[in-house]
Amino acid sequence: MFAEAEAVEEDGGGGEDEEEPAAAPKTAKRKPAARKTKKAVPDPDADSAEEDEKPAARKKAAKKKDEDAPIDVPEEFDTAAMWERAHRCGKYVGAHVSAAGGAWNAVVKSVGIGGTAFALFVKNQRRWTSPPIAANQITAFKAACTAAKLDPRKHLLPHGSYLINLASVDADKATQAFDAFVDELKRCEELGIGLYNFHPGAALKEPRDEAIARIASRINAAHKQTESIVIVIENMAGQGTVIGNTFEDLRDIIALVEDKRRVGVCLDTCHAFAAGYDIRTPETYAATLSTFSTTVGLPYLRALHLNDSKEPLGSKKDRHENLGKGKIGWEAFRCIMNDDRLNGLPMVLETPREDGPQGDLVYRREVELLYSLVGKGVGEVPDGV
Ligand SMILES: [Zn+2]
Ligand SMILES: [Zn+2]
Repeated sequence: MFAEAEAVEEDGGGGEDEEEPAAAPKTAKRKPAARKTKKAVPDPDADSAEEDEKPAARKKAAKKKDEDAPIDVPEEFDTAAMWERAHRCGKYVGAHVSAAGGAWNAVVKSVGIGGTAFALFVKNQRRWTSPPIAANQITAFKAACTAAKLDPRKHLLPHGSYLINLASVDADKATQAFDAFVDELKRCEELGIGLYNFHPGAALKEPRDEAIARIASRINAAHKQTESIVIVIENMAGQGTVIGNTFEDLRDIIALVEDKRRVGVCLDTCHAFAAGYDIRTPETYAATLSTFSTTVGLPYLRALHLNDSKEPLGSKKDRHENLGKGKIGWEAFRCIMNDDRLNGLPMVLETPREDGPQGDLVYRREVELLYSLVGKGVGEVPDGV
């Protein structure tokens, strides 16, 4: 399933499998036009070069025109109740949504599930390269965010490609990974997005401390090639040789990052639980947050992934489950939804769901259930459960 099975870890669910690149052509017309333009590059030695050039130039112009054509984005979404609810409790909850047809579609999907935060892929997450984001897609995305009253600097948390292993020691693989990493960061900046979440990587056969140093040095290099994006490291479940399953790993990477204003952590509840951090009771939840606070520091916590776990505590297996149906249970999510220290952070569901509208209903319900936990006492479950 993955190019470097050990380097990447399945995040489960999230509708991530059949994802289209964010820059996917809007119309069926554009795809063949773009492809033919490439093939029709004139060969200077060929007699027909001049003839070939004309259709190529025409097609290029047609493609440019297509990218300039404005995309019809709704001018306003009915989001007043969603935002009122989120502002009242300070919790910005949503899901990882599909960006098929362009990133602006992810905004529409997120609004559809009642999300006041969301994740998306900014290019095809299973390919190394994707075409640049078309100008009209950037405009449409920004317009959609404005229409939904979403601040892309605060409420969005794109997820990095699964192929990227920033700990790679092999020169060619490291270059490929780094280039793809910077490309994704730049795409985020083009879209006006402030945070970018990624899996730190895997040590494979190399010593862990050296792998950690390589990850940090590549974050430093990526900072220098970008303007403002905050690189958010996700904690991992601990499968294979992955880095980031302990809070100490996260601390050690951050310690080597030069620009500390532009690095943070995304805490995935399923990964933390699989890695051995219990959060099932108010006491264990408090202890885990306290360990994070003393080891990494709460100011570095920039986002959460809200997932239940199919596997037990400490299993090291990354298998997401729908909220309340796994080994973690509702109490952890009740604690989260009533913890003021987490106010303002994007919280993103990556729970299992089918593709399509049925899957969106799963997210819609989970968002509702989470908000219904606000104000509930110890041991209480969401409304309707
Ligand atoms: Zn992830
Ligand atoms: Zn996650």
